[in-house]
Amino acid sequence: MLTCTTLASGSSGNAMLVSCGGTHVLVDAGVSARRITGGLAALGVAPGELSAILVTHEHHDHIAGLAVLTKRVRVPIVATAPTCRRICYKVPFVDDLVREQEAGTGFQLGSLWVESFPTPHDAAGSVGYVISGAGSRMALCTDLGYVTPEVLAAVEGCDLLVCETNHDEDWVRTGPYPYSLKQRILGDYGHLSNEAGAELAARAVEGGTRAVVLAHLSQQNNTPAHARQVVCRRLAAMGFDPERDISLAVAPQDRPGPTYRLVRGELASAPACGEAVLC
Ligand SMILES: [Zn+2]
Ligand SMILES: [Zn+2]
Repeated sequence: MLTCTTLASGSSGNAMLVSCGGTHVLVDAGVSARRITGGLAALGVAPGELSAILVTHEHHDHIAGLAVLTKRVRVPIVATAPTCRRICYKVPFVDDLVREQEAGTGFQLGSLWVESFPTPHDAAGSVGYVISGAGSRMALCTDLGYVTPEVLAAVEGCDLLVCETNHDEDWVRTGPYPYSLKQRILGDYGHLSNEAGAELAARAVEGGTRAVVLAHLSQQNNTPAHARQVVCRRLAAMGFDPERDISLAVAPQDRPGPTYRLVRGELASAPACGEAVLC
């Protein structure tokens, strides 16, 4: 069984646990070590049981807890070479922990096969991950300005997709952010809008994905209900009923979300439709 639980998701911090057959990996450590260890404890996982921490990129909302967490437990940190360099620069005493993984390659980690793919984002060497185990496959696609052929290839055939729906473009344009920040968010190296995320989710669902978790929502320029509505509308236009045919939820910003359990590609448990919108 492959399980996946977001511990936090959004512009203020990201972390996710993926487990299979006793192998546990943390993907990003962007909230406090206290919150990460608390989230792990609720799932029955001690920090020392982590096989690795996979890091998508060096932004604060993905590595904020890394310093304190790695002071407590000396877990290998896996990232691309540019990200490893930046982590060593920003986080003290991790030089001996970092392991370079070239974007687009894969490696076996206990019961999990971990592949990364490059993402267009304003951080050198940023990646998303495809993680498989026990006949199931999940993809993490957040922090990307637009959907590239590599991203489409990554989501193909995944059973669970964690998909960025960061903002509503109009809300960003008319909102209070300074011009330069607006340009960054909306640019090719920023974040996927609800519409762009909906399009990516649609492509995945077309290819057989039956569980979609909307993630990395902006607190300022989005709401869980709005993001979900945009994606629902897109999937409904394809003839899918998001209340019945697929599991569509929003990852909570400030607390762990429900655990997704995948057994040979089938979703064994998923949150009730309304549940995850209340975040
Ligand atoms: Zn980022
Ligand atoms: Zn981020």
